[in-house]
Amino acid sequence: MGNQYMTDTEEGLLKTYNRFPVVLDHGEGMYLYDTEGKKYLDFTAGIAVCSLGHGNKAFNDALKAQIDKMIHTSNLYYNTTCGQAAQALKKISQMDKVFFTNSGTEAVEGALKAARKYAYEKKSGRYEFIAMEDAFHGRSMGAVSVTGHKEYREPFEPMIDGVHFATFNDLGSVKALVNDKTCAIIMETIQGEGGINPATPEFIEGVRKICDENDILLILDEIQCGMGRSGSYFAWQQMGVKPDIMTMAKAIGNGVPVGAFAMTQKVAEYSLKPGDHGTTYGGNPFACAAVNKVIELFEEEKILDHVNEIAPYLTEKLEEIVAACDKAVKVKGKGLIQGLQVSVPVGEVSRKALEEGLLVISAGGNVLRMIPPLIVEKEHIDEMAEILKKVLA
Ligand SMILES: *Cc1c(COP(=O)(O)O)cnc(C)c1O
Repeated sequence: MGNQYMTDTEEGLLKTYNRFPVVLDHGEGMYLYDTEGKKYLDFTAGIAVCSLGHGNKAFNDALKAQIDKMIHTSNLYYNTTCGQAAQALKKISQMDKVFFTNSGTEAVEGALKAARKYAYEKKSGRYEFIAMEDAFHGRSMGAVSVTGHKEYREPFEPMIDGVHFATFNDLGSVKALVNDKTCAIIMETIQGEGGINPATPEFIEGVRKICDENDILLILDEIQCGMGRSGSYFAWQQMGVKPDIMTMAKAIGNGVPVGAFAMTQKVAEYSLKPGDHGTTYGGNPFACAAVNKVIELFEEEKILDHVNEIAPYLTEKLEEIVAACDKAVKVKGKGLIQGLQVSVPVGEVSRKALEEGLLVISAGGNVLRMIPPLIVEKEHIDEMAEILKKVLA
């Protein structure tokens, strides 16, 4: 223990989570270990964050070097680490301008502000957002206002003005909500928390068309499905559409808290200007060193190729579980963001899996979320499938 104030108990934490009954201590590659030394196969990756696995030496060394060089400067001073990270993210995201945040929620918050500022500068009188049922965008007042779970919003009402919810993958329901006040349409390219639901190509193309015809901005939230998990850097890159604004976080820092929103030149020209938005920590040299190293390692270790090679094997094994176990209903998703729908309480499945040494969380009411580190190999998928077959027997 470091000082007289430190005692090891959860008691001081505000109870906003029902945590799993395990105390994790350290990790290596695809595995985490608890304080008793028990080993767990990790199919959660800290909620789609630790894509390079745990204890990646090259990543950790880069962080250590940056710590000794410079951790923080504030955004009032330019630093090259941050500039490089923006260039790298621009390249992989095909966007033109990047703003760094400290979390996914803040990336969404910034994206909403960027869209409203665009409408303001254009004097279009537009301020409304169309969001999707079952969407998850975070917990701040703006982000929760566009989150499609009533129970997340209700205790905090009134929400921000002018948000309407359409049904995901139902273009008619979006069209019915579009009017001359609509400023932006926001959605996840693949809904994560809502149950691993990919947007259909017809839906996303249709939404893009509505946006183009009305000077409405399309905001794609790639915080969970982005950064290689779908098999391309960002999931929309496989769908023949491009957003005007996009959000990223989670895996771009591999565990270092960092997010970003990015926009095309068309939006940037009319959007946030000096004084409109800011953050003390956002994009500090430490966080940006993480982003730079993550992208470097993705290229060096050909992570995208690996995702595309291994993902069909994950689907195959999940299909095998569906065939073998009555309680497993169907497989959803793509790449290394897949879901196994079950017909029994999914929380219980997660808890039993934990006892058997597998970390796996739920999505929506009845889906087991398969979001392992992207370095997962066939042997790990086999190990996961054996455990789930036992748990779902
Ligand atoms: C996790 C998540 C967020 C919120 O990110 P935080 O870093 O938890 O604030 C927003 N959108 C999506 C799609 C997410 O999965």
